[in-house]
Amino acid sequence: MATKGTTKSASKTRSKKRSYIFVVGGVMSGVGKGVASSSIAKILQARGLTVTALKIDPYINVDAGTMNPTEHGEVFVLQGGLETDQDMGNYERFIGVDIPDINYMTTGSVYQTVIQKERNLEYKGKNVQVVPDVPLEVIRRIKHAAEVADADVTITEIGGTIGEYENILFLEAVRMMKGEMPGSVAVVMVSYLPVPGSLGEMKTKPTQHASRTLNSAGVFADFILARAPIAVDKKRKEKIARFCNVQPDHVISAPDVKSIYDVPLNFERDKLSERICSVLNLPCKKSNLSTWKRFVDRSKDTHDTVQIAVVGKYFSSGDFVLSDVYISILEAIKYSAYKLGLKPEITYLSSQDFENKKNLQKLKKFDGVLIPGGFGTTGIQGKLNVIQYVRENKIPYFGICYGMQLAVVEFAQNVLKLKQVSTAEIDPTAKHVVVDIMPEQKEKLAKKDMGGTMRLGEYPAVLAKGSIAAKAYGATTISERHRHRYEVSPDYITEISSGGLIFSGTSPDGRLMEIAELPPSKHPFFLGVQFHPEFHARPLDPHPLFTAFIKASYESK
Ligand code: GLN
Repeated sequence: MATKGTTKSASKTRSKKRSYIFVVGGVMSGVGKGVASSSIAKILQARGLTVTALKIDPYINVDAGTMNPTEHGEVFVLQGGLETDQDMGNYERFIGVDIPDINYMTTGSVYQTVIQKERNLEYKGKNVQVVPDVPLEVIRRIKHAAEVADADVTITEIGGTIGEYENILFLEAVRMMKGEMPGSVAVVMVSYLPVPGSLGEMKTKPTQHASRTLNSAGVFADFILARAPIAVDKKRKEKIARFCNVQPDHVISAPDVKSIYDVPLNFERDKLSERICSVLNLPCKKSNLSTWKRFVDRSKDTHDTVQIAVVGKYFSSGDFVLSDVYISILEAIKYSAYKLGLKPEITYLSSQDFENKKNLQKLKKFDGVLIPGGFGTTGIQGKLNVIQYVRENKIPYFGICYGMQLAVVEFAQNVLKLKQVSTAEIDPTAKHVVVDIMPEQKEKLAKKDMGGTMRLGEYPAVLAKGSIAAKAYGATTISERHRHRYEVSPDYITEISSGGLIFSGTSPDGRLMEIAELPPSKHPFFLGVQFHPEFHARPLDPHPLFTAFIKASYESK
């Protein structure tokens, strides 16, 4: 039976036509390649096609986990535990699917595999070369991801900008695939068209140059997404078409939009999915974006506001404020607010400001306060002061990961009145280390084995019946994604619980504390989670804990 089943599914897999779309960036980065890729995935999904999306990051880091968020933005953790780029979050949110680890790669991870295979004699004595062996490994991964997802269309976004030394090997993979699979591979170049203030005219020249640079890698774009402050007119579409070897109706206007969720709808105005289907010779069913459109409409039809403060530390980069670092949290807040018909107003506050207790008054005007995950010692006293303030002043509080660990520290300090309380991350020699490092993690730290070694990815938890958490989820078993090294110390669980902070969620074996909450009699909403619920929040399926937090915040106004 087993053999028969395998044969059947293998032949089914073989007969399915797989198509591939590559999204590359021209002119400059940061113009929304990730949102463009996610939106392409969305509009094809809306045509009844099975889609999956990959991201390639050209840096040497094996994954995104070892980078400072101010360098690279949020680290998005996949179900399987891989620490990846924030674009992976956009893909999951747009297409509403959990994406496996195989869908993310970096130069570092590709080289690591090639070198390991060489060491294992898998190249059978061959001279292993940068070209073709590195691009071949890239292609192997992309095709494998397509098989795993059983995808009709696999969208791969190549990080960085055309012309950078770093992504040349990835463009080489695109060239090879396009040559080998005519009619099954399409290339989309997302390019920027500036409208210089002094001229007031949209310029196409940088895009022409980007296109030539792409051609010099042996790759021709099938589509150009013209990112610009305003819509691209017919005249410029024709000009781009003439100079960049694409059809005029394959130049798609992609003007700045208020909400990224408008992008799929905008693309469809230029009939992008229909045109992609025609290039790839795919069946093009009637598009169904109605639930998406309902979400977009609802997000614009909100009146009452809810004021949420996010107190974090990774906000500033030179003179600029980065909100990207907490993007999944910001989106999660929005989805839940929209679901409740509310307009979220989110303010970023730097935790260091609250080291001076006088500044705590600033928190008064907020309906709810959220402390996201974090690492290290910067701004910690500020966060502890904020937690004490919101706990005592009954302002709804949602603590995520570090935000829960610090709520436990604050509770031990100010409610249990223990002296010299800390987390081992800050002071392992404190008298009361209420958040500690687990033995297996201690060994890793001693060996400086830092990359990809935290407790990562999805783990189940069981919830106490009748708790705030269980009521919010409407369930007593859940599964959430994690990224942390430290845990509430088993030595203090009884003392903290009898003091009134309830551990309403634990690992199934009861060893690890997953959720801490104050009962409704003590506080309108005070809840911390060791995991990262934001990674599961989706526009069409908001996260229940965020919804409970926003609801409590609005009601306590
Ligand atoms: N720094 C803490 C830990 O490693 C919390 C991590 C986080 O907030 N993601 O356990």
